[in-house]
Amino acid sequence: MLIAGNWKMNTTLAEAVRLAEKVAQHVQQPGVEVVVCPPFVSLDAVYGALRGSQVRLGAQNVAEEESGAYTGEVSAAMLASVGCQYVIIGHSERRAYYGETDAVVARKLAQALRHSLIPIVCVGETLDERREAQTVVERQLTAAYESCAVEEAVRTVVAYEPVWAIGTGETASPAQAQEMHAAIRAWLRRRYDADTARQLPLLYGGSMKPDNAPHLLAQPDLDGGLIGGASLDAEAFKAIVEAARAVQH
Ligand code: PEP
Repeated sequence: MLIAGNWKMNTTLAEAVRLAEKVAQHVQQPGVEVVVCPPFVSLDAVYGALRGSQVRLGAQNVAEEESGAYTGEVSAAMLASVGCQYVIIGHSERRAYYGETDAVVARKLAQALRHSLIPIVCVGETLDERREAQTVVERQLTAAYESCAVEEAVRTVVAYEPVWAIGTGETASPAQAQEMHAAIRAWLRRRYDADTARQLPLLYGGSMKPDNAPHLLAQPDLDGGLIGGASLDAEAFKAIVEAARAVQH
């Protein structure tokens, strides 16, 4: 099980360190990999706050280029140099507000892999796309993994995040989430092979909270969660991690 917290554009430096310290102290559950993704400016300090714990550091975004004249961008090498092990790629907010296309997501995935970061590749349909959700998700996966060899694909994580459930308090039902996760697993089997499909962790994201986490995480094809709002509250985040531990499969 893998539980990742996406802090988005929240927390000042001092707040990020305090939150990381609480997570490091209280959120230790054997068998659950826990990741926090603070804003770029707090990565280094949060890395320090997490030292000695099992909690891993991730970033929320990465540049699609290696280095150079790209004002305001942060490269995969830079993220690795401050202790990041994970990076979120293609989050729906990046796609919707910053125009990240499927092609950009594919280049970011390649950059992350080149620098040994574990990419958490986000896919998911908007409310308007809900009736063709599986087609949309498969298109996003096909584009992201187009140039990704099997040895690289096994080092990635996919997060299914229905956009209509992110930050809205609405969540996919456990059955809806399971259905899409099974479809993603089937896509991975077709694109790669059964072993890769089985090994690659599939996270669900979209208003996962302590009360709905046990039901969602109990689904056979859910291997964890990508948590937005609830990851800003150490107690709520802890409860979700405990739910993941309780339903290990
Ligand atoms: C997210 O942004 O990845 C997310 C799942 O947010 P929330 O949990 O707030 O819906």
